[in-house]
Amino acid sequence: MQSDAEDEAESLDPQDWPAMRALAHRMVDEALTYLETVRERPVWQSVPPQVARRFDGPAPRAPEGAEAAYQAFFTDVLPYPMGNIHPRFWAWYMGNGTVLGALAEFLAAVMNPNMGGGSHAANLVEAQVINWLKEMLAFPATASGLLVSGASMANLVGLTVARNTRAGVDVRKQGVAAAPRPLTVYASGEVHSSVQKALESLGLGSQALRRVPVQDDYTIDLATLQRMLDADREAGLRPICAVGNAGTINTGAIDDLDALADLCAREGLWLHVDGAIGAVAVLAASVRHRLRGIERADSVALDLHKWMHMPFEAGCVLVRDEAAHRNSFSLTPAYLEHGTRGLAAGSPWFSDYGLQLSRQFRALKVWMSIKEHGLDRFGRMIARNVEQAHYLGALIAAQAKLELLAPIGLDIVCFRYNPGGLDGAALDAINREVLLRLQEQGIAAPSYTTIKNQYCLRVAIANHRSRRSDFDALVEAVLDIGAQLRP
Ligand SMILES: *Cc1c(COP(=O)(O)O)cnc(C)c1O
Repeated sequence: MQSDAEDEAESLDPQDWPAMRALAHRMVDEALTYLETVRERPVWQSVPPQVARRFDGPAPRAPEGAEAAYQAFFTDVLPYPMGNIHPRFWAWYMGNGTVLGALAEFLAAVMNPNMGGGSHAANLVEAQVINWLKEMLAFPATASGLLVSGASMANLVGLTVARNTRAGVDVRKQGVAAAPRPLTVYASGEVHSSVQKALESLGLGSQALRRVPVQDDYTIDLATLQRMLDADREAGLRPICAVGNAGTINTGAIDDLDALADLCAREGLWLHVDGAIGAVAVLAASVRHRLRGIERADSVALDLHKWMHMPFEAGCVLVRDEAAHRNSFSLTPAYLEHGTRGLAAGSPWFSDYGLQLSRQFRALKVWMSIKEHGLDRFGRMIARNVEQAHYLGALIAAQAKLELLAPIGLDIVCFRYNPGGLDGAALDAINREVLLRLQEQGIAAPSYTTIKNQYCLRVAIANHRSRRSDFDALVEAVLDIGAQLRP
């Protein structure tokens, strides 16, 4: 038998609390300095090989201590960030994070609740955040929701409920194979890859995703969608769902959600909206009207780690029909029975609304950030990014050697360097090199896409730290590098 003294002699808590407290204070100080001075450093730099090699060793068997662990982070990890904390990072589609968001992550881990269920205050925080998001999107108070890792999972949850509700058979019991006719889902050709991955995981197959052509502004062509539905029904398929885009990944296009909701109502389809990029833009007075109809969706996926700048990960799915949502995921064995008193009381149990049982307290950073800034400030940040996208568009239009390749749907600008006299392949090659040099020289970090077979630089401005002069600097650098490559 061990004595208490022996038990106390070793645990995972600090042996020297004052030393740990001093280290914690140093970590906070250095972290805040790091963020305060982020603009002074390159957007991105590759990890030097001699540093990368330090990640090759085996796990230590004996303690190295908290101080040494932090020191390794400080010298080998912290100096080589992805870059999305920087004011000139506009790659893929990401947020910056915030200082309070980072501190809230720490506090969430201090409490370390498991958000699967039970009676504790953290569950009230998540429930309130979901209620706030429902109000934001004008969803009914009776709707349900779940915080998830991001829009990929939110799409999976929404499409699971869509499938289970509209398949015409008991999918949970019998599986998709029991459906008498193949189930199909409709979305524009610009739909995000996560929707296809969700349908593959749901057993519907990628061919169940019927890709509808887009119009000149990259929004879904509803007349063609109607013809495809008629033809598919004729061919013996069972259409169950349409996915509307509230901000496409390539160009930020927002489908006509109101018209799509009309069509879904007429055709008996579940309407799921992928609002990873644009749903939170309802907060921006200048954008809100373009999202009309999102409040009619059966389910919506939205991301909070993109345009709301929560530290990764934070997304949410909302489902209009709470019972349909719960019926898709709830499974309550004896060891998880919900109570009305004691620790197992509390409602809802969030594990009834998704695949995860153990869940992190991601709601805290959202709750504290919304309290810190208020929704209206987030709206102003979003509106400013949209204005910056058009500012960049104007800079591009004013340069004979730059070419805008798609309409600016929201906050995403696709363009290329085009000095004239080059064929398509040469233009693609020169623009690939321009992009790599922008990144490798630490100047700016756009990403890339291909639109109508033309490689382009893609600037996705979900960045609360960007200023107008950052876009001046980008244009200047593209012209400089372009001229070096093609004097
Ligand atoms: C980013 C994105 C997703 C996927 O969201 P994650 O948060 O990365 O899981 C889905 N749809 C669109 C339109 C996106 O931009």
